[in-house]
Amino acid sequence: MKDYLVDDIKNIVRPELGEEVPLLLFRILRIVGMRSILGETSGATLYMMGKKVGNMLRAQTMEEFSGTIRKLKIGIPEAVIVDEDHITVKLFECITCAGFVNTGEMFCDMESGIIAGLLENVHGKKARSTQTKSWSSGYNYCEFEVFLY
Ligand SMILES: [Zn+2]
Repeated sequence: MKDYLVDDIKNIVRPELGEEVPLLLFRILRIVGMRSILGETSGATLYMMGKKVGNMLRAQTMEEFSGTIRKLKIGIPEAVIVDEDHITVKLFECITCAGFVNTGEMFCDMESGIIAGLLENVHGKKARSTQTKSWSSGYNYCEFEVFLY
């Protein structure tokens, strides 16, 4: 199976429909489709997928980190450097959960992975991200604690 890179897939020829897809379609694929097929392992799988995506995207500075997340419309990030190896990232308007009801369950694993992957690129270290807040746990933003190692 071929490993496709961003350059292989970035050419979009849709003169009538353009590059955008409804966010509802994304959420059906992401929250309903992937979870029902992957079951209990969906969190870990989506996180690893996100990490790979994050590693494929360009980010050399914290400004590029924020700009990439915003440009891809994953959300509006607000990163606070807590200490040398600890970064807290708030994500407003999260692609997956913004507006979601409070179910007490958090599932923005792909976003968590993308954040970790991008921060690995910025800092040249490994990163582990854990989601701590979500619309689906009663907040109006997502939050991730990222540790570099
Ligand atoms: Zn979210």
